[in-house]
Amino acid sequence: MTPLLSRAIPFFPYAQVFQPEEDRLVGILRDVGRRGAFILQEDLRRFEENLARFLGARWAIGVANATDGLLIALLAAGVEPGSEVIFSSHTMVATAAAIHFAGAIPVPVDCGSDHLMDAAAAEAAITPRTSAILPTQLNGRTADMDALGEAASRHGLVLIEDAAQALGSRFRGQCAGTFGAAAAVSFFPAKLLGCLGDGGAVIANDDGVAKRVAALHNHGFDAEGNVTGWGFNSRLDNLQAAILDYRLRKYDAAIERRRHLARAYEAALEDLAEVVRPAAPDADAAHFDVYQNYEIEAERRDGLREFLRARGIGTLLPWGGEAVHQLQALGLGSWRLPETERLFERVLLLPMHVWLTDDEVEMIAASMREFYRGRV
Ligand SMILES: *Cc1c(COP(=O)(O)O)cnc(C)c1O
Repeated sequence: MTPLLSRAIPFFPYAQVFQPEEDRLVGILRDVGRRGAFILQEDLRRFEENLARFLGARWAIGVANATDGLLIALLAAGVEPGSEVIFSSHTMVATAAAIHFAGAIPVPVDCGSDHLMDAAAAEAAITPRTSAILPTQLNGRTADMDALGEAASRHGLVLIEDAAQALGSRFRGQCAGTFGAAAAVSFFPAKLLGCLGDGGAVIANDDGVAKRVAALHNHGFDAEGNVTGWGFNSRLDNLQAAILDYRLRKYDAAIERRRHLARAYEAALEDLAEVVRPAAPDADAAHFDVYQNYEIEAERRDGLREFLRARGIGTLLPWGGEAVHQLQALGLGSWRLPETERLFERVLLLPMHVWLTDDEVEMIAASMREFYRGRV
């Protein structure tokens, strides 16, 4: 019998983003506040440099959030209004919103067995009006960028990455966010590298693209303070940047912790035929996954979810349970994406964050075993 949990296991414990490091974080606030260093200051510049170095990219530019970052990346990369941009329907609505607000037409495509954009589906969706392919590096995994990069270059398309969930994830040794013209990462509190509110960055290698991103995110100003065109106000606060710079120094250990927990889930769930697990950390030498999420496919998913909930274990349906092409209010037109639709009947996110303990993984797995072994 599974022992009753002595305390609940929330899907994500938001207060942990602050509480364990309260003194250090308050110290950073005091330091930044006393210097009056709030917007576009030294701490931000240092974080941008360190982030670019971490990713092996030339440029990282702090923005207000990754949704803005994607919009700015699309505009800076020259995606034309009225053109079509291909994205994976298994993503946050934010990906499609960025395409929409760039004036382009979001074209959803199916995902493959790893839940990321299927390169064949992306290629099949290319038309004479296509301008860009925008894969989402989902759940801390990087898509097959050989196939997507080849498709993009064969058809002369811009490649933009939604790397909101993939900071430090690699494909063939190269970091997510560095494969295309530009990419966005997110520092939302529950993301891999979280700050105390909203935050994001645009990543770019091309100097011209980076210059346009820098102008677009700050009212169109260039480095000399001249207005070079229309721009937004979408800056990363210097205070958040100071906190992120501190956290980036310990980020490798956070990734290692997530990979350790993924191995623990793998071992604990291995014998459950009713559950399809994500690829284990060492399953494929081409991929270095950082496990933003632990996304399973489960038989009798809704029953399992309710069973876990009754035991105090929080889970989440990705995007509230619907892929982007299923969101009727957006007017995207009617699409049939069989693999994504099949997946969304079965998909479930289990708790995955650096404060999760090995014992908690065992308890979650034990409850799942009890559900499927019929004493329900
Ligand atoms: C979180 C997320 C975003 C949006 O990030 P924000 O920083 O909250 O704007 C976009 N795409 C994906 C895949 C995400 O997970």
